[in-house]
Amino acid sequence: MKETPIDRRHQRPPLAMEPEEFRELGHALVDRLAELIASLDRGERPVTPAETPAQVRALVGDHALPAHGEDAAGLLEEAASLLIDHSLFNGHPSFFGYVTSSAAPLGALADLLASALNINMGAWALAPIATEIEVQTVRWIAELIGYPTGCGGLLVSGGNVANFVGFVAARRAVAPWDVRRAGMAAEGAPSLRVYASTETHTWLHKAADQYGLGTDAICWLPADRHQRLDPAALEEAVRADREAGRLPAIVVGNAGTVSTGAVDPLDELADVCRAHGLWLHVDGAYGALAASVDEAPASLRGLAQADSVAVDPHKWLYAPVEAGCALVRDPARLRDAFSYSPAYYAFEDTDEPMNFYEYGPQNSRGFRALKVWLGLRRTGREGAATMIRDDIALARRLYERVATMPELEPLTYNLSIVTFRYVPRDLELPPERARAYLDELNTKLLFEVQRRGRAYLSNAVLPEGYALRACIVNFRTRERDVDALPAIITEVGRELDRALRPRAPRG
Ligand SMILES: *Cc1c(COP(=O)(O)O)cnc(C)c1O
Repeated sequence: MKETPIDRRHQRPPLAMEPEEFRELGHALVDRLAELIASLDRGERPVTPAETPAQVRALVGDHALPAHGEDAAGLLEEAASLLIDHSLFNGHPSFFGYVTSSAAPLGALADLLASALNINMGAWALAPIATEIEVQTVRWIAELIGYPTGCGGLLVSGGNVANFVGFVAARRAVAPWDVRRAGMAAEGAPSLRVYASTETHTWLHKAADQYGLGTDAICWLPADRHQRLDPAALEEAVRADREAGRLPAIVVGNAGTVSTGAVDPLDELADVCRAHGLWLHVDGAYGALAASVDEAPASLRGLAQADSVAVDPHKWLYAPVEAGCALVRDPARLRDAFSYSPAYYAFEDTDEPMNFYEYGPQNSRGFRALKVWLGLRRTGREGAATMIRDDIALARRLYERVATMPELEPLTYNLSIVTFRYVPRDLELPPERARAYLDELNTKLLFEVQRRGRAYLSNAVLPEGYALRACIVNFRTRERDVDALPAIITEVGRELDRALRPRAPRG
């Protein structure tokens, strides 16, 4: 049989690239991104083009996979244009939605470096120096938030997965049977109970569901009027469960709730956990990093007592997505929960190398730590704290401005999150109808503000009703961006109110 020659010398595989071409394309792309960064810094483009799904879908088209490839230069140019002209910019100075930060340009360069080397962080042998950098990054994050630096931990995709890692470590540690082998439905196993306030992020639903407890295992405790978990209510629920033959297991405390930034009384939760032998997991995806500044509520520092903590470097450390970090006080707990030793990994066991595949759910792993490590080295402890402090001060400034506007009602202010709503001055409706109308008006107001692209907010649902929510995790936001917001909201609010207001009943 005649062999077809494999000629890779004269016919380059299509994904290989000549060094000269890489240099040229890379420089052109970096030039374009530098212009984008400049325009974001100046705040001169809209936050979003606010196109409809149909419009955006049409840009991408629905043709089948082309049979033959295209030239890389043209593709990169096209992709850059598509993305720059049709994206929402969470790095815009007036982006105040969700908890999505502006991303450090240094982080983008770090991602380029990490992916050009294609380092696989699964095992030490595959990523020697990079593994040591990730270990140091985890330790520095712990140090920054005042968590014991002897903890275990690793970088994951974000807050959800960081919380999952804490949850799985907790499940393994608190179940008095071999839960990894026998699962949750083991013969005679009591049902594990998880406690959290109703303000907790929806990762907890996913965790209880995915790791076999089921969402019914969660005991949702009503938050108090400051959106915090009440330790007395927790204690009572734990007792009631124990009397009913269930096994109280995990308490989830919030270090900055996703809606309003409320911080649960973590010290008191830790006391309850100690008294009843429960695992305290703290969701600090948003707020844990604020423990590095004095302005943050004192209760935040209670996270130092948690058995596990989730932190999001892609929030208040401004790393580009994705970067979450799970910390577990006792590193052995992490290994107990995740380690298997397959036959195909036979690494030389000198000097106890750190093999991250044994400490978390992933096998192959990207070098997310690099962008976080470089960011921390660029800012130092002081620089990181100053950026957070400024976001908090800008949020306070916004809250104060809102309070001076007769048509805006300030609702909450915690960490760097402010909630408020538009209330027309001469609203003469009976209370029930007024509430329904304000909910409708503010819902439409939010969408209209988002559509116009001058500023971007998200929403919260509070006991008072539907609220507009501004969250500042953005090093590009300046005083003038914050000061412009109340006028933008009132302008749109007035327009919509004129169009929508129901007439007051006669008589
Ligand atoms: C953002 C957030 C999460 C989820 O984190 P992702 O990084 O989006 O996965 C969980 N909890 C809180 C409190 C958050 O703010």
